[in-house]
Amino acid sequence: MSKKTIVVVEDEADIREVLIYNLEREGYQVFGEADGIKGLKMIQKMIPDLVLLDLMLPGLDGLQICKHLKDNSTTHQIPIVMVSARSSESDIVLGLELGADDYVTKPFSPRELLARVRAVLRRRTNSLDELAGLCINCEGVSIDARRHEVLVDGIVVNLTATEFKLIHYLAQHPGWVFTRDQLMGKVMGQDNFIIDRNIDVHIQAVRKKLGSHRDLIETIRGIGYRFKNLNE
Ligand code: CA
Repeated sequence: MSKKTIVVVEDEADIREVLIYNLEREGYQVFGEADGIKGLKMIQKMIPDLVLLDLMLPGLDGLQICKHLKDNSTTHQIPIVMVSARSSESDIVLGLELGADDYVTKPFSPRELLARVRAVLRRRTNSLDELAGLCINCEGVSIDARRHEVLVDGIVVNLTATEFKLIHYLAQHPGWVFTRDQLMGKVMGQDNFIIDRNIDVHIQAVRKKLGSHRDLIETIRGIGYRFKNLNE
């Protein structure tokens, strides 16, 4: 796996060096910049995995940079951790409202800083997983592929492995119609121990467990099934 990149925008040279030193030691690829305008340009050019942003900067201050990044579709997803003096709490609040992910106050311990950075990167990975379909939320139904868990109105329902594969596959492709054969091929996979080869039986079982959300799985007469597309 390639190293995660971090841009540090901090005008105080000694603090910048401490940040860079600790982050590099942790295995990140780090780029430092002292000036706000140059820092923003660097971020826009590199699209790093994370930005550490001081609030008081020459050129363009941290809040302005934050706003620029969050207002632009190519940079708005980059996580931002603000680095700020404890005295500027109102700025921290403003930064968070502008979309910054977290903050550390000076003086900070390297351990605290690294913990924040790791947590923000992890959170980001999780939300990317969500986009990749590892976790799907639809009306009152939440399908978590990593935990192999389905929650209906916040309550875990027990699905068989086959039932889970079925709903997860359908939900990953809302609006797509699948034939019974396609679905069977999908949920059979490597394991051949499925007792009931009748897909309708499994679909009925899933629907029953979805309760009031049973209509999320629609029957397409003469063809098969699809997961309701809520955007339609
Ligand atoms: Ca500063």
